[in-house]
Amino acid sequence: MLKNILFFSCLFISFFSKAQELKSPSEFLGYELGTRFTRHHQVVEYYNYLAKTAYDRVQLIEYGKTNEYRPLLLAYISSAGNMQDLEKIRQSHIANTDGTGDPSKAIVWLSYNVHGNESVSTEASMLTIFDLLTIKSDYLENTVVIMDPCINPDGRDRYVNWYNQHKNTPFEVDPNSKEHHEGWWSGRSNHYMFDLNRDWAWLTQKESQQRLPYYQKWLPHIHVDFHEQSVDSPYYFAPASEPFHEVITDFQRAFQVTIGKNHAKYFDANGWFYFTKERFDLFYPSYGDTYPMYSGAIGMTYEQGGSGRAGLGVITENGDTLTLKDRIAHHYTTGISTVEVAAKNIAALNSEIRKFYAPKNYKYNSFVLSGNDDQLRKLTSLMKEHQLAFSYTNATTLKGFNYTTGKTGSFKTKEGSILVSTKQKKGTLVKVLFEPNAVLSDSLTYDITAWSLPYAYGLEAIATKVIIDGNTSNTVAEVNNTDLNKNAYGYLTDWNGMDDARFLAELLQKNIKVRTAQEKFTLHGQNYEPGTLIITKGDNEQIVDLGSTLENLAKKHHKKLNSVETGFVDRGKDFGSDDVKMIAPPKIAVLTGEPTNTLRYGEIWHFFEQQLMYPMTALDTEYLSEVNLETYNVLILPDGDGYQSFLDSSMQEKINDWIDKGGKLIAMGSSLSGLADKDWISLKSKKMAKDSTFIQPEIYGDVAREEMKEEITGAIFKTKVDNTHPMAFGYNEMYFTLKLGNNAYHFLEEGSVAYIEDNSKPVAGFAGSLAQKKMKNTLVYGVQELGEGSIIYMIDNPLFRGFWENGKLFFANALFMVN
Ligand SMILES: [Zn+2]
Repeated sequence: MLKNILFFSCLFISFFSKAQELKSPSEFLGYELGTRFTRHHQVVEYYNYLAKTAYDRVQLIEYGKTNEYRPLLLAYISSAGNMQDLEKIRQSHIANTDGTGDPSKAIVWLSYNVHGNESVSTEASMLTIFDLLTIKSDYLENTVVIMDPCINPDGRDRYVNWYNQHKNTPFEVDPNSKEHHEGWWSGRSNHYMFDLNRDWAWLTQKESQQRLPYYQKWLPHIHVDFHEQSVDSPYYFAPASEPFHEVITDFQRAFQVTIGKNHAKYFDANGWFYFTKERFDLFYPSYGDTYPMYSGAIGMTYEQGGSGRAGLGVITENGDTLTLKDRIAHHYTTGISTVEVAAKNIAALNSEIRKFYAPKNYKYNSFVLSGNDDQLRKLTSLMKEHQLAFSYTNATTLKGFNYTTGKTGSFKTKEGSILVSTKQKKGTLVKVLFEPNAVLSDSLTYDITAWSLPYAYGLEAIATKVIIDGNTSNTVAEVNNTDLNKNAYGYLTDWNGMDDARFLAELLQKNIKVRTAQEKFTLHGQNYEPGTLIITKGDNEQIVDLGSTLENLAKKHHKKLNSVETGFVDRGKDFGSDDVKMIAPPKIAVLTGEPTNTLRYGEIWHFFEQQLMYPMTALDTEYLSEVNLETYNVLILPDGDGYQSFLDSSMQEKINDWIDKGGKLIAMGSSLSGLADKDWISLKSKKMAKDSTFIQPEIYGDVAREEMKEEITGAIFKTKVDNTHPMAFGYNEMYFTLKLGNNAYHFLEEGSVAYIEDNSKPVAGFAGSLAQKKMKNTLVYGVQELGEGSIIYMIDNPLFRGFWENGKLFFANALFMVN
C-alpha cells in the first residue's frame, strides 16, 4: 500500500517527466521478472528503452565491447534538473576531491554481475533503475546514480544460455538436478576465464581497461559490487571483515556500518537473514570493493546466496526454497537502501572524500625505480591508467629501504630512474601498490597477501622518506635504429623482457630464422649476454629486405638492433658454433577441460593470444588420448586438481614416449602432483615437517588459526637463479616469486633453475611457521632432460592473474630457449 501512495505522489510531481509511461522490466520483457533469466541483448534493449523514454533522467553510454563483442553499458540516472547539469555536477565533485568547490550531490556507482553466473545481479539492476526512476525518484534530487548493469556480459550469457538449455520445465528445485550443476567452465569468469573481480588494479582484461577511465572521471562516493555466494549462505553486506588495509579511514569504516544498519532495518522488517563483519575482508587491492576504497569511496561487496547453483529455484540445506525472485528482492533492497543512505548524507560524503584526497603522511614519501626497459614501460603505462603521476630522477644517493637486498641504508640510484610519490592526489593508491610489505592485521584472509609492484615487475627499487623533486621529462633517449645497416651480415638484440619475446614470436611467425647465444660473447667491442637473439642474412636469404623488415618490427616492439659485419666474435662462440642454437618455432598445445583449473588455463590462453601473440592449440582432455602428439613439440599442463587420476599409466606412457622423441612438457602448479615421485620423473615432493612444538589446539575456536601455520596465502619469496641455464636467460641471479600455496619439491639433481635457499621467510605477505620451514631448499623452476626432449617444472605460476610481469620471461624461455 505504501508503495502505491508513493507511486501516485510521484506521478503528481513529475507529470511531464513521463514516469507514468515507463514500463517496468516485467512489462517491457513480456514476462514477470524472476521467472526467466534475461539475456544480455534484452538487458541492453531495456536500458536503451529507458534512456529513450525517460531521456530527461537517464543517459546511457556504451563504454566498450567485450571479447565476444557484447556491449558494456553505463547508465547515469538523476533528476531531470541534475541531468541537465550533469557535467557541471561531475566537475564540481572532482574539484572537491582536489580540495576546492562546494558540491551538493552524492555520486553512487552500482556495479552488477562482475561474476557472470552470479546471475541475479543484472535482473535486480533492472528493477532498481526502474524504481529509482519512479517510486524512489526522491533520492535522485541530490544524487547521481551510475549503474553498470553487467560488468561481465560474456560470462553472464554463458551461464544464462547454459541454464536455458539445461533447465527442466517448470524449473526443478531438487538440487541434484542438472540445472544446478554447471560444467567445468562456469559463467563466473570472462571470455579468457579471468576473474574480473581480481583485475581492478592490474587491468589485464579488456572489460577492466575500458571501464576504469569512466570510474576515474567520476571517483564516486560509494561503489557497490553485487555478487552471489554459496547457495546455502544467507545475505552478506557491509561492514566488511578484518583484515582491513591500514589506509582505510575511520570514516570509511564507520560509514560501512551506517549503510549496513540501514540494510538491516529492511532485512529485519522482512524477516530475512544476513551476516556482516565476516569472510569478506578489505586487503587485496584488485577487488571491486578495495580498489574503490583506496580511491576514496565507500567500497562494498554485497553477496546474495545463490550463484550458478540456484537457477530459478532450489531447495537449500535448511529445506527452504530459494527462488530467483527472492534473490532479486534482496539485491534490489540493498541497492535502493544504499542510494537512500547516500541521499541522506550528502554533506558528510563530500567533506570526507575531500579529506581522503588531502595530502597525507605515509611512512614512505617516494619510491625510486629502475631496471629493465620493457618492465619500466609496462609499469608506466599501468600508472597512467590509474592516473598516478610519476617523474624521473637524476642519479643520486638516497637513504631508504632497498627491495632487492631487503636492507635499509644509503643507496645510489640511476640517472633517469622513475620516481613515484605518495605526495600526490592518488598517494594512497601509490602506497598500497608500491610499498614493500602491506601491514596485515589478521592472517585469515580471502586472498593473496602480497603484490608489491617493484617485486612483481622485477625492478631495483628504493622506498624512502625523502621528498624528491623529479624531472617531468625522461632524460633517457628513446630506442631508435636509425644507424642500422640494412645490408649487414647479421643483427643482434638483447633478451630480457616480454617485448623481446613478442618480437621473437613475430619473427618466427614470419618465417625469419633466429639463433640464440648460449653463452656470453663480445663483438665489435660490445658485450652480449646469453639469450641474445642473432638474425643473420645467411639464415634468411629467402627474406627480401631483411634489414628493413627487422627495422620495422624492432620499432613496433621497442627493440634496439645492432647490425654486425661478421660472425667472427672477439670473445666467446662464433655464430656458426654448435653453441649458437637455432630457435625451433614451437608448435604449442595446451591442455584444457577437466582436470585443469579454468582460471589457470585461461591465463595461458590469454598469454598466448593477448600478450605474446603466438598461436596455440587447445587440446581437451576428453580426446587427448586420440590425438597424435607428434604434431606438437610443446605440451602445457595448466594447474588443476585431479591430475593423479588423469595421468594414469597409459597417459604417462604416451607423454613419456613423446618427450623421448623430442617433445617438451611444461607442467605447472598442481599438475605436478600427477608426475612427481614417478620413476621417470626427477621431481620429488617434500612433506610438511611436524613441528615438535606443535600442540594440538585445545580450544575448538582456534583451529582455523592453528591451521594457518601450514598455509601460505600468496606471499613473495626471494629465489636464487642459475641464469646460465636457458630457462633463466635474461634474468639476474635473484628473482622474487609469488608463491600461492605450500606445495614444495626438492632440488633436482640437475637443472634446478630458480629455487629458495635456506632463508625461506617471505619478503612480503603471510606464510605460516611450518610452511616457511617446508619451503627451505625447494625448487621454484626446474628442467629435466629426458631422451631427446625435456620436462619443465613450474611450481609457482608466473602467469597468475596476468600481473606478475617479471615472471613471464620464464614462460617465454620455456617455450623458446629450452631445448
Ligand atoms: Zn562474486
